Amino acid sequence: MTQVILNNISILNNEGEHFCVSILDGKINSVIAEPVKSLNHSHVINFKDALAFPGLFNAHDHLEFNLFPRLRSKYYRDYLEWGNDIQKLYSKEIDAALKIPVELRMKFGMIKNLLNGITTVMHHGNKSIKKSDQIINVIDSYNYLHSISLEKNWRIKLNLIFNKLPFVIHLGEGIGDVIENEVNKLFKWNLFKKKIIAVHGISLNINHANNLAGLIWCPDSNLFLYNKTANIIDLKNRIPIFFGSDSNLTSDPNFWNHIRTARGINALNDEELINSITSMPGELLNVKGIGKIKNGYRADIVVVKKRNVNDYNTFFNVNPEDILLIIRSGKIILFDESLKQECAYLNYCRFKIRGAVKFADSEIVAVIKKLESYNIQIPLELSTIE
Ligand SMILES: [Zn+2]
Repeated sequence: MTQVILNNISILNNEGEHFCVSILDGKINSVIAEPVKSLNHSHVINFKDALAFPGLFNAHDHLEFNLFPRLRSKYYRDYLEWGNDIQKLYSKEIDAALKIPVELRMKFGMIKNLLNGITTVMHHGNKSIKKSDQIINVIDSYNYLHSISLEKNWRIKLNLIFNKLPFVIHLGEGIGDVIENEVNKLFKWNLFKKKIIAVHGISLNINHANNLAGLIWCPDSNLFLYNKTANIIDLKNRIPIFFGSDSNLTSDPNFWNHIRTARGINALNDEELINSITSMPGELLNVKGIGKIKNGYRADIVVVKKRNVNDYNTFFNVNPEDILLIIRSGKIILFDESLKQECAYLNYCRFKIRGAVKFADSEIVAVIKKLESYNIQIPLELSTIE
């Protein structure tokens, strides 16, 4: 039996500032609106001015591509033009990252997500990750298709895989005839009206939305590559909008900058934006019991310093260094230096992220240590401490 109690804490979207959240065997066991006064339990963490929210859901990443620098030489018409351009111009940077074994790169991809407060990710790729190797939850309840131009035999896969799961595919990534043709071909060949969730959808309009079950919006990556993103204002009225980061090849390692960019675009209101990275994706993908701080839900919880009396202002101004605590499936996997006393029983290792000292499971710090021996810049200014 593993118990953790978070005491005297605010919860995003809940009135009140002094909640007590009890976690037992991986799940949220109780949420009480009052702090508990004389708790003598060894695993109680008492907070002051802290805000809790559900571990975030990142609906799009390529886990093995997070140790590359962000690469572009200009704005592109579509993803094919981008791919050709970077292969030509940045072979040195690409080779340096490819020297790192793919298993280590995948691990780092999960760690990049974790350090941003993300506890569930949809990895867009062929490589699946065993449950026991998952540092965060990696969703596999969908069928992967890369894209119309780069996925071999996509027509056969789309029409001969019968498992009721949605197909997730890059679609409408760019503008122009090639991209238009891809969209038309996909809809024409979706003979059995399989559920399709598009990633990017820059070229999509509301008529296209009739053929889709959802869109994964990656504004940070889109604006970097194409100086343009999807028409969320129109599309959100027809289909659910998920939110994704894409990999560090095309986007900022700091996921919170993506959230702020999205907020600045003002296509989703604050509530919709928060739902798209917390409760909504699990509900739509049939992953039960995630994305809420509520009795019976999986205990995936992030706690940050409360820098503002308004919880939304605190939330939208978070950066990875502000994270005080991350709990995944009831287990603390990261805590801030300021909680050293309360989490001393964990015997975790120190490391630095963007100037702040945190403690994490030795497995995580070992990955950072290994990466320090390669000739690359580690994202999020990560380093080990001797
Ligand atoms: Zn992608």
